[in-house]
Formats: sequence, C-alpha cells, structure tokens
Amino acid sequence: MTDTIRCQSTGGLFPHTHALNIPVDAINTPPKDGITLTTSEEYSLIFKHKHQVHITLDELIKVNRGEKVSVRDTDKGRHSFVIST
Ligand SMILES: [Zn+2]
Repeated sequence: MTDTIRCQSTGGLFPHTHALNIPVDAINTPPKDGITLTTSEEYSLIFKHKHQVHITLDELIKVNRGEKVSVRDTDKGRHSFVIST
C-alpha cells in the first residue's frame, strides 16, 4: 500500500468533514499536471457525497518544502483542506 498523508476538510454546506489521503509519492515526485484526488464519502444531512480535489504541481512542491498549502474542492469550493507534511 502506498503511504499517504491524511488531512481533514473544513467548511461545507451543513458542516461536515471529509478525509483526503494524499499519496506521499506525489509529494516526493510531483507530476507536472498535479494530481486529482477523491475525498472520503460523507453525509451532508441525508446526502451521501464526495468531492474531487486538484493539487497543482506548485502546491505539491510547496508541501514538499514543508509549507502549508490550502486547497479547495473542485465542485463548488465549499470545503478547504490544509495540507502539510
Ligand atoms: Zn462535502
């Protein structure tokens, strides 16, 4: 299994939290197009859903340098995820 860094979202409609697992490989060797990940599936009231999150090459490089990077989901951007190693 690939090593991952786990982070939690904040925000959302009817506040709820998604987990996002970022592969360590993508941080150590960032692909030039960045990566697109899918969050865990959670309930917002009765609706079970998940989101996609895109992390750019630049953002991956920053995380690799030890900086904190904040990204948003690609649907409506209601959730934000703070990524740091
Ligand atoms: Zn959500």
